[in-house]
Amino acid sequence: ESFTDMNLHTSIMKDIAFHGYTTPTSIQAQAMPVALSGRDLLGCAETGSGKTAAFTIPMIQHCLAQPPIRRGDGPLALVLAPTRELAQQIEKEVKAFSRSLDSFKTAIVVGGTNISEQRSELRAGVNIVVATPGRFIDHLQQGNTSLLRISFVILDEADRMLDMGFEPQIREVMQNIPKKHQTLLFSATMPVEIEELAQEYLTDPVRIKV
Ligand code: AMP
Repeated sequence: ESFTDMNLHTSIMKDIAFHGYTTPTSIQAQAMPVALSGRDLLGCAETGSGKTAAFTIPMIQHCLAQPPIRRGDGPLALVLAPTRELAQQIEKEVKAFSRSLDSFKTAIVVGGTNISEQRSELRAGVNIVVATPGRFIDHLQQGNTSLLRISFVILDEADRMLDMGFEPQIREVMQNIPKKHQTLLFSATMPVEIEELAQEYLTDPVRIKV
């Protein structure tokens, strides 16, 4: 499967080419058609496989099918990642594949950075939030953002998030987002805790292993 066969928005196609990607990696060829079809996905993949683009591109495409974001709206899509560094890498890819889209906004919400800057960015309304779980919940509790419009969730490096004690924050999000949503869960390992999380929060997921 090539990127051309995926029926992507022309603007995303342009940005993929600009970013220098010509051929999908194995995880991209397997995961992107599934994610684009609206199904939930349980992906066993490590960093280096190209998993970031495999989920960011379908996420952007999903957002384009939603009504536009207005000031004060919560995000349409949320990515939770274990560390600030990983969140920054993900944000970079989201920005790369949405650079040609007018008024498409992404916020990064991680610990150790200016919370009031993040607050005004969130309050202005963004399409996508890339976050570490603790800081995202802080913003929710402060009323700076909401779960009301979320219809697409990515849990990246879910095993590491559990190792770091983020299970309560993940559950808080998954239990309170609107019923109609799509979830992609990626994990390098599949311990029983991940299987349980998937069992609880994914609906009839397609399993992919690279
Ligand atoms: P990731 O596993 O998402 O961290 O990606 C690992 C590396 O592969 C990153 O440096 C990406 O920029 C690169 N990469 C991902 N997908 C492709 C692709 N289709 N073609 C070329 N490089 C890619």
